[in-house]
Amino acid sequence: MGELGSRLATIDERIADAARAAGRDPASLTRIVVTKFHPASLVDELYELGVRDVGENRQQEFSRKVVEVGDLPGLRWHFIGQAQTNKARAIRGAASVVHSLDRARLADALDAAGEPDEPVLDVLLQVNLTDDPGRGGVDPGELEALASHVAALASLRVRGVMAVAPLDEPPGAAFARLNALSGTVRSVVPDADWISAGMTADYAEAIAAGATHLRIGSAITGPRPQHG
Ligand SMILES: *Cc1c(COP(=O)(O)O)cnc(C)c1O
Repeated sequence: MGELGSRLATIDERIADAARAAGRDPASLTRIVVTKFHPASLVDELYELGVRDVGENRQQEFSRKVVEVGDLPGLRWHFIGQAQTNKARAIRGAASVVHSLDRARLADALDAAGEPDEPVLDVLLQVNLTDDPGRGGVDPGELEALASHVAALASLRVRGVMAVAPLDEPPGAAFARLNALSGTVRSVVPDADWISAGMTADYAEAIAAGATHLRIGSAITGPRPQHG
C-alpha cells in the first residue's frame, strides 16, 4: 500500500477508535477527504482507495477539478468554503452537499439556480462559533431564522449544521455549543441531524461531541502544495 493508502487507513482507524470511545458506531460517521490545492489526480487516487466523499473550499478550483475528474460513479463532492451568491449556479451544478450555507441570500441564490430536472440539494447551515463576525457562518442567534428560511425553499434540503472550531478555545467546548445548535435547527427541521465538524487537528473532539461528518485534509493527503 502506498503512503496515501496507509495515511488513509491510519486516520480511519483513529476515527473508529474515537467513535467507539464515545460509544458511537464508526459506521455512522462520514469521513470527507478535503483535497483543496491538490491536483485532480489525487481525487482519482483516493477514489481507487475507496473514498467516495471529497471536499473542496474554493469555487473556481472546485469547478475545474470536477470537470477534470469527470464521472466517477458514487463520488460525492462536498463544497465547504465561503460561497459567493453569483457563483450559485456553478456550486449547485457540481456539489452533492453544500456545507457552508450561512445567509438567506445565498440560500435564495442556490434555490433559484436549481434546474427543473435536478435533485434537491443537501445543505448544512454553517455557524460562526467565534466572536469575529468576519468569519464565515451565521451568528448563533440568527440560526433558527435562517433554518426557517431555508426550510421553506423547495429545492434545498436542510440536513444539519457545520462549523470550524475557533483557534482561541479548546475545540471540545466549541463543538459542544455546535451540538446544542444542532438542536436549534432540529426544532425547525426535525430530521436535520448532520453535524459537520472536525478537521485534522480536532476530529477526535468533534466525534466525542457528536459530529457525523468529518472534513479531514492534510492528515490524509499530506501537506498541501504551495499556493499563492
Ligand atoms: C481545509 C479545510 C478542512 C481540512 O483541514 P485540515 O486541517 O487539512 O484537515 C476542513 N474544513 C474546512 C472548511 C477547510 O477549509
